[in-house]
Amino acid sequence: MERRVTRQVKVGNTYIGGNSPILIQSMLNTMTMNTEESVEQAIKIVDAGGELVRITAQGVREAENLKNIREEFRRQGYSTPISADIHFVPEAALEAAKWVEKVRINPGNFIDKRATFNKIEYTDEEYEQELMRLEVKFKEFLDVCRRSGAAIRIGTNHGSLSDRIMSRYGDTPEGMVEATMEFLRVCVKENFHNVVISLKSSICSVMVEAVRKLVSAMEREGMNYPLHLGVTEAGEGEDGRIKSALGIGTLLCEGVGDTIRVSLTEAPEAEIPVARRLVELLTTDSYDLRCSIDGEVLKARSTISDRDDAKLFLPAKLGAYLLSGKVKELILELPDLGDDFAKRLAQNILQAAGVKRFKTEFVSCPGCGRTLFDLQKAVAEVKQEFNTPALSSLKIAVMGCVVNGPGEMGDADYGYVGAGSGKVNLYKGKKLVEKAIPESEAIERLKLLMRRNGENI
Ligand code: SF4
Repeated sequence: MERRVTRQVKVGNTYIGGNSPILIQSMLNTMTMNTEESVEQAIKIVDAGGELVRITAQGVREAENLKNIREEFRRQGYSTPISADIHFVPEAALEAAKWVEKVRINPGNFIDKRATFNKIEYTDEEYEQELMRLEVKFKEFLDVCRRSGAAIRIGTNHGSLSDRIMSRYGDTPEGMVEATMEFLRVCVKENFHNVVISLKSSICSVMVEAVRKLVSAMEREGMNYPLHLGVTEAGEGEDGRIKSALGIGTLLCEGVGDTIRVSLTEAPEAEIPVARRLVELLTTDSYDLRCSIDGEVLKARSTISDRDDAKLFLPAKLGAYLLSGKVKELILELPDLGDDFAKRLAQNILQAAGVKRFKTEFVSCPGCGRTLFDLQKAVAEVKQEFNTPALSSLKIAVMGCVVNGPGEMGDADYGYVGAGSGKVNLYKGKKLVEKAIPESEAIERLKLLMRRNGENI
């Protein structure tokens, strides 16, 4: 696998891009104001092999506390760089840049407000004015980062594009690319190059297409910033691993990707060995693979002998075929793993690629400092109740917060979204239908909502 040549970005005591190895990272799900628990979890991530830890900073107060977290983390002997995760509050980004080695901002909400999903028309003049407003605020942020030495990530998400971008491009890969390029052009103009980029979606085909298009757009404009890869809301367990491997692995196989995060609705440190193994499998000749295409049927044969490896290696290696739109069936021949396993894995890979649906699809975010309820328990309960053949055509989202959850759950049919301590909001598509209901009643109320909408439950 020949890696795309990118600029090398210094992040604290490490590097992303250039000829540095692919960096593995994860994100805390503790409360950012709880210094002790945050440091404890950051240490678990590093001890598991994580090379960068990200922490959400919802506001200036949390951004200020990054100073305490960093100091305590360093005091305990850990030098791993910390990244802050900022949405909606540019002042928090300015504050965070003083304390941590990297700050992620989201072009969809750095200056722009939350998307209303209403069709808003912008005249060329209004669009230009918004871009100028963006440039002023973003430049202020870059100046702070320049002084402190912090790197930045321009982290675009499919589910949180601004109204301005949506008005011209819709929530498309092209929209994700342009949302990112608007910020990158300011970086170039300001001669600020400590920049990493990500374009994420919970839909693998969208994520892969967006990243490929961004790479071309950057090449056209003479840029070569390194890329952070991830599939958002991939869920947990086997399905979460397969989906992440498919999205991230497809691009890694094309030589694209300098740092990765496998987002799982599990303990953050559980993400690290999955990410590490995925990279290992794709950078060494671990297993053989023979592929042939007959019409719309992809046949693949491998003597892979480890089930966990198969769930990473095969989706990653077959992703490009499956996301091409030309393949409708997958037949796996895995003599060392048995026909039943091969058949089930083929179905799960086809579903992760969005080619075919065999069972209810669940999407869930990994949770972060904005999550005020037991997300992993909620996912387990929702799966237990709704994973039935009668609901196999549905996509159900379980999200940790109302700030980003509703936008990021993409095209889910129903959403179960944390709305504060022990409270849940229920969505039908993007429409909020039940607000702040007690968590203990949420499953039953979701069932009722589904029945009212004609679902067979
Ligand atoms: S959707 Fe989940 S991961 Fe994203 S900000 Fe909300 S709680 Fe955090």
